[in-house]
Amino acid sequence: MADQHSVRCNKLRRSIKREGAHALLVTNFTNVTYLTGFSGDDSYLLVRPDGETLLSDPRYQVQLQEECPDLDCEIRAQGVSMLKSIAQVTRSAKIGRLGIEAGSLTVALQAAIATALPQVELVPCNGLVENLRLIKDRQEIKALRTAAGLAERAFAVIRSSLRADQTERAIAHQLEHQIRLFGGNGCSFPPIVAAGARAALPHASATSQPIDSAGFVLIDWGADEPGGYKSDLTRVLVTGKISPKLERIYQVVLKAQQRAIAAIRPGAKAADVDAVARDTIGKAGFGKYFGHGLGHGLGLDIHEAPRLASNSEVVLQPGMVVTVEPGVYLPGFGGVRIEDDVLITRQGHDVLTSTPKAWDEMFVPI
Ligand code: ZN
Ligand code: ZN
Repeated sequence: MADQHSVRCNKLRRSIKREGAHALLVTNFTNVTYLTGFSGDDSYLLVRPDGETLLSDPRYQVQLQEECPDLDCEIRAQGVSMLKSIAQVTRSAKIGRLGIEAGSLTVALQAAIATALPQVELVPCNGLVENLRLIKDRQEIKALRTAAGLAERAFAVIRSSLRADQTERAIAHQLEHQIRLFGGNGCSFPPIVAAGARAALPHASATSQPIDSAGFVLIDWGADEPGGYKSDLTRVLVTGKISPKLERIYQVVLKAQQRAIAAIRPGAKAADVDAVARDTIGKAGFGKYFGHGLGHGLGLDIHEAPRLASNSEVVLQPGMVVTVEPGVYLPGFGGVRIEDDVLITRQGHDVLTSTPKAWDEMFVPI
């Protein structure tokens, strides 16, 4: 375990040097987890040329010993502020140019550090850790597969026990419950369970409405595995009488998704993969009803780089993991989105999720 984290920190040291800084104060908690394996909050990591120091407080002492016993930790005493701790550690490491994470450090803390350390020059750095997180290593890919498996097992239970009187909210709650029973931390985000016309809202939150009379239900969910890696899927289940229009839309979205997945390989441009899905939906006459990007990166965060979108400049590389989730949303009628998680491999791609999605497999009469 420690190995993986020191490999990551060593790569980071090279990019800190390229930025012209002597060290980096990592203030984004997810980045701290990525670099150390520590899953708690409220702790920063100082990455120096010769090692790392985690700045934390006594609440986390036991957890730190369990999760990262080899990590050098500065546990500040009760009554000592984080700012004072940052100043002490920076001073004793004799750092002249301190890199800061421009994307997460608040303006207030930046000003306070500048006042506390008048001799130190602050160097704003952008996305240094995020750039490493873009390419998943073997351990992360394993965790992402676990996250996918947890979500799929939970969904299979929900699917087989669906009832007409269940509310959207009860189904969302059941998903959370099942993921935890299977050993996950819970859902990777509050699940979207949207029956009938409510499925036209791409970010609908689950309501207390029963799913019975709507005829179909869109479920967008994912699991958070014990290490914090996330999965993200969407399926539409047909539960009763529906209009033939739903099948037409479903087949278009499915075709768009399958074509886009087939276009995923190293060297492909993210914008071109987005265009494959968008053209398919556009040619079927539903172009203006697909109002979001095709997908997003997935890892310790539910939304991270790279984005699959028409304005993305990313070129896909092995080790990236993205969702592929085209959708068509007709106000007042409902919507269809189909979402899977895809790893870019050296040969092409590997779809991490395998919950059935062919039209004739979506029928769950209730
Ligand atoms: Zn989703
Ligand atoms: Zn998604």
